[in-house]
Amino acid sequence: MGEGQLSHARLTATAQVKVSLRRGDARPGCAVIGAGPAGLFAAETLARAGAHVTVYDHKASPARKFLMAGRGGLNITHSEPLERFISRYGDRAPYMQPLIRAWPPQDLREFCAELGEPTFIGSSGRVFPRSFKASPLLRAWLARLARLGVVIAPRHAFLVFAGERVLRLTSPESGEVLHSVDAVILAMGGASWPRLGSNGGWVKGLAAAGVAIHPLRPANAGLRVSWSVIYQGDFEGQPIKNVVLRHESARHGPITARGDIVVTRSGLEGGPVYALSSRLRAATEAAGAAILYVDLRPDTSLEHLARKFAKRPPKQSHATFLRRAGLNRAEIGLLREASPHGLPRDAEAMAELVKNAPLTIAGVSDLDRAISTAGGVSFEACDARLMLRQLPGVFVAGEMLAFDAPTGGYLLQAAFATGRAAGLGAAQYLGLSGGKETPSEPDHAGFAPRHLPNSLELSAPNK
Ligand SMILES: Cc1cc2nc3c(=O)[nH]c(=O)nc-3n(C[C@H](O)[C@H](O)[C@H](O)COP(=O)(O)OP(=O)(O)OC[C@H]3O[C@@H](n4cnc5c(N)ncnc54)[C@H](O)[C@@H]3O)c2cc1C
Repeated sequence: MGEGQLSHARLTATAQVKVSLRRGDARPGCAVIGAGPAGLFAAETLARAGAHVTVYDHKASPARKFLMAGRGGLNITHSEPLERFISRYGDRAPYMQPLIRAWPPQDLREFCAELGEPTFIGSSGRVFPRSFKASPLLRAWLARLARLGVVIAPRHAFLVFAGERVLRLTSPESGEVLHSVDAVILAMGGASWPRLGSNGGWVKGLAAAGVAIHPLRPANAGLRVSWSVIYQGDFEGQPIKNVVLRHESARHGPITARGDIVVTRSGLEGGPVYALSSRLRAATEAAGAAILYVDLRPDTSLEHLARKFAKRPPKQSHATFLRRAGLNRAEIGLLREASPHGLPRDAEAMAELVKNAPLTIAGVSDLDRAISTAGGVSFEACDARLMLRQLPGVFVAGEMLAFDAPTGGYLLQAAFATGRAAGLGAAQYLGLSGGKETPSEPDHAGFAPRHLPNSLELSAPNK
């Protein structure tokens, strides 16, 4: 059985396990599984409420994905009005609404400022820490967590629940241990970029315990385009700046996104690509392929372009003409890819192509290369405190939950807000004074709670 995987196989009498008993002090002992932003913020919330918290992570150091997010300029949240912000969670907005309202973007900005990283609003409304990076923020945060008494236990993989709130963990130093705790917060992330730690290994075990899980899918993913060998070879890695992408479907109407895109070996990446990727994933899954229109000159009208192109000398080649009209080689190549039967000579048709170059999208990139994961633990499997209805005392936070949102800071805001809600929920479950506040029940009926028996048979992973 691989690192971090869950299983409900039975524990044999001969299994070599150490049993670590609950701590002797008066504080309840809590475990957080996953040292990403959701888990760390849940840990902070619980520790402030008076619990003794240990955060386990199977990687050698915490928050690797958070640090990776910082490499591209950590976009921690967004400054747009709250209603609009919440609408970014699409059909999960009713679930996310009480959680985000209880800890909105302004609170995340204050959190950063307290840790010595004041934030600023970029021209697009996105919010960034002063340094643009995650590492100074994480360093200050880990120091604060240590002062709060939070213990971080790296290289500890959570394998399985070996009973009610009994964790089976494994580490190179201690081997396998059973750890009995008063409450657990699961914050093991989604399944994108698995080398950073979140590998979706939790799905099987939680599903086996009866927790409803939506299949994990790529979100904010690149788009797959079957480029010609020439385009692929000449333009892989080339940016195409300031374009508008558009997709239309009969069911949902048009969707557009503006920004810079990058040509990759297998298609396209970049902010506007990610923004459209969920819709294109659905469209390509339904029909096998979908059309994406690229407007290479979004600030110039079709008529203006047509008038400009009408002045073309009759014998001038397409490449010379388009270059003189201001298009670069990657853009001209893209126009050729979009018109496999040859570029038009007619000025209006050429203008139409520059404004609406149709690319056939074969699908979205695989989950392991996506920025985030759609799907996960159903909100209906949780109560308003984010406690699993099937597993009392077990809470879920972060990207493990089945929400989807575009890039723009919505993912990290959700990780923090759900981490806080789960931390408060666990504190309240334990009757701790700091855990009084609970988000209002989202507007759904949910499943009926079904409690597990008090003593579960011990279980162990398949080896
Ligand atoms: C390249 C990239 C750039 C991004 N940029 C941004 C951005 O600018 N803005 C934004 O909002 N979002 C961004 N994101 C997304 C954001 O980083 C994630 O949504 C966020 O990290 C999710 O937080 P999390 O705590 O839920 O999960 P994670 O950060 O994935 O943390 C989960 C943790 O659980 C641990 N774990 C998993 N299984 C086990 C186990 N069995 N036992 C023990 N530990 C386990 C993992 O090692 C990991 O440390 C980016 C993502 C990527 C990949």
